[in-house]
Amino acid sequence: MDWSALKESKKLLLGTTNRKKLIELNAHLQPRGFDLLTLADLPRVIDVEETGTTFLENARLKGVAQALEHGMWAIGEDSGLCVPALEGAPGIYSARYSIEAGVNAVDDERSVIDQRNNDKLLNELAAVPDTKRDAYYVSAIVLCDPQGSVALEVQGECWGRILRERRGTEGFGYDPLFEVVEYHQTFAELGLNVKRAISHRSRALREFLRQLDARLVH
Ligand code: IMP
Repeated sequence: MDWSALKESKKLLLGTTNRKKLIELNAHLQPRGFDLLTLADLPRVIDVEETGTTFLENARLKGVAQALEHGMWAIGEDSGLCVPALEGAPGIYSARYSIEAGVNAVDDERSVIDQRNNDKLLNELAAVPDTKRDAYYVSAIVLCDPQGSVALEVQGECWGRILRERRGTEGFGYDPLFEVVEYHQTFAELGLNVKRAISHRSRALREFLRQLDARLVH
């Protein structure tokens, strides 16, 4: 694998339009000198179908497709929330948990979909006692070279529990319901600094940077 272009330009394409994810990833990548572009910075955008059965498979699909389409080093990230009391749901379907099969949700804003996803999660867990509301976020990150070969892949997790009502306004997705037990606060109350320290995405990214550093020094 030829790492020289990445070593020189430090340009990486992030295969998503999710601005909040970009902010979280940039918090780690920018201080290391990486220039992270998103699909919003590019003239052509392809939509990658998430047909995998795991977070890593979906991250791979996104990374490979975007790297090949744009001829750049690209990162595919796939993430979600898993609730053991719901047999792992919403899992890889986290983004579209409340969307009925066949319904076109393209016109809905991400925040509207997040609201509905949270409502559905609260409904599904209504009869589940406080002692069984543990949950964990997962983030899978895959780096692909411009030829579409997978160069690195990592995964991070972060455990918490699902509250009975929303708290806080920061973050995105399920953050208002996800309490970090050690803090007695949700990610939506704790905000970016705590997410930067302990979130699933941050954990995955720290391991990612550790492995990337080892490749780029040679
Ligand atoms: P993806 O864009 O296909 O990776 O879907 C990720 C989905 O998982 C989001 O739409 C959220 O519903 C959920 N999710 C992933 N990471 C987070 C997070 O850090 N906070 C809250 N929700 C998240």
